[in-house]
Amino acid sequence: MAKKYFQIGQLVCEKLAERFGTPLLMLSLDEIKKNYKVLKKYLPRIKVHYAIKANPHPEILRVMADMGSCFDVASDGEIRTLHDLGIEGGRMIYANPVKTGAGLAACRSCHVSKMTFDSASEIDKIKAQCPEATLLLRLRIDNSSAHVDLNKKFGAARENALALMLQAKEAGLDMAGIAFHVGSQTVSSDPYLHALDIARELFEEAAAAGLQLRILDIGGGFPIPEPKVKFNLPEMLQQINARLDEDFADTEIWAEPGRYICGTAVNLVTSVIGVTERGGQPWYFLDEGLYGTFSGVLFDQWDFKLISFREGEKKVAATFAGPSCDSLDIMFRGRMTVPLEVGDLLLVPSCGAYTSASATTFNGFSKAKFVIWERVKAEVEPSAQTVK
Ligand SMILES: *Cc1c(COP(=O)(O)O)cnc(C)c1O
Repeated sequence: MAKKYFQIGQLVCEKLAERFGTPLLMLSLDEIKKNYKVLKKYLPRIKVHYAIKANPHPEILRVMADMGSCFDVASDGEIRTLHDLGIEGGRMIYANPVKTGAGLAACRSCHVSKMTFDSASEIDKIKAQCPEATLLLRLRIDNSSAHVDLNKKFGAARENALALMLQAKEAGLDMAGIAFHVGSQTVSSDPYLHALDIARELFEEAAAAGLQLRILDIGGGFPIPEPKVKFNLPEMLQQINARLDEDFADTEIWAEPGRYICGTAVNLVTSVIGVTERGGQPWYFLDEGLYGTFSGVLFDQWDFKLISFREGEKKVAATFAGPSCDSLDIMFRGRMTVPLEVGDLLLVPSCGAYTSASATTFNGFSKAKFVIWERVKAEVEPSAQTVK
């Protein structure tokens, strides 16, 4: 019964809930390692910079650091978190195109010199506060098909790109390359290939203007399984890799995966704590809600899979709400499910990205606790010990 992605079974789920209580987040560090290796297998040239905003759990950061990964950071807080774990600034890229004074100060004290920008005002700030910086121009890539389109907020327009890069060079900064992000959970290679076309043209235009670029950062956006969404990841990555070899054979290639690294590595176990009926529809209240792990419903527009272990053919359309006293705290409406009862457990697989990272303790509910799967699996899954 080998699953392609980390997913615990019913008995294990019950044992874990009994032992640790719910809501509970099971984190598989082996899955983190596997995801990193898959990306490196299909895109062997990329220098991975894990975008820690997707899930900054210290165990994930440690495992990624041990495998040799670099990191994408966006704030002074993220820089200092990594610094405190002993990760040198040389392994970080400050990939927020609009930086704060505190962020630039953290760069100086933690020796972070790689950063992105997308406007002239940022060049002035960087020149004044981090004159030794190595810069990548963040390019805007129009991609209306992206699940979360970051290009609505960031990126220089194609027509301004060359002038901005030349301006950074004139300012005496190390103008080294181009970065883009096609949008999170992108399920086709097309936006990447489109971005690579534009980047190729800009590399040539820059060279003609006397600026030799040496780094290309293809960002994040690599997808994880999602209900009702189909894609072929190996094929996607092979197409991207072939284009990199064709058009950027002598360029250093970086990437900034977030979701792909951590998304499938976490399973949530949550309990039904209340059942009621309104307008002829059942309502189920869970001990985890929109202010917790399910914050991804709001901030990441994510459609979570809910797995119930209750047997039954007949399904009903139900509403699922969180435990807080706020009426916003409703996750799903019209979700088909077998009828549930108080005390039932629900399993939510692949919920490691943009979930706990944006959870709060609103209304006094603690954040769901994390347990590392590999440290408890021998106890709760006796067969795991004997399988070779
Ligand atoms: C959020 C972000 C990422 C990670 O994106 P994913 O879609 O999670 O892979 C990478 N780079 C930048 C600049 C980001 O803002």
